[in-house]
Amino acid sequence: MPALTANASGGKLPPQVKTITAEGIVRANLIDASPIGINIRSTVATYSGVLDELRKLFAGTAMAKEKKWKAGAFSYNTGKLRCPTCDGTGQISLDVQFLPDVTITCPDCNGQRYSDEVKYI
Ligand SMILES: [Zn+2]
Repeated sequence: MPALTANASGGKLPPQVKTITAEGIVRANLIDASPIGINIRSTVATYSGVLDELRKLFAGTAMAKEKKWKAGAFSYNTGKLRCPTCDGTGQISLDVQFLPDVTITCPDCNGQRYSDEVKYI
């Protein structure tokens, strides 16, 4: 990763790397399992902006235009199309008396985070 970044920016390669061939690569971003930000709803897809592009694509579909759904409606964090049962988390926490809470997959959206309305997009 440091070698790719150095190569793309014209910088000096790390000492452990003698040479690198990365023709056409102008940028490298590391995505790993590290926690992303403070918001527990952040995912690699939200952080990298992939979901923003998907929301725009969804909003461009004929059905979305017919229903007047803008890109923001497809946010599972705040959008009006998020699953109302789990509030877009895809999970439900069950309070079990005398035992630690149990987290299960949302039975209404099956962990998909969206309401039934978006199934047909
Ligand atoms: Zn749900």
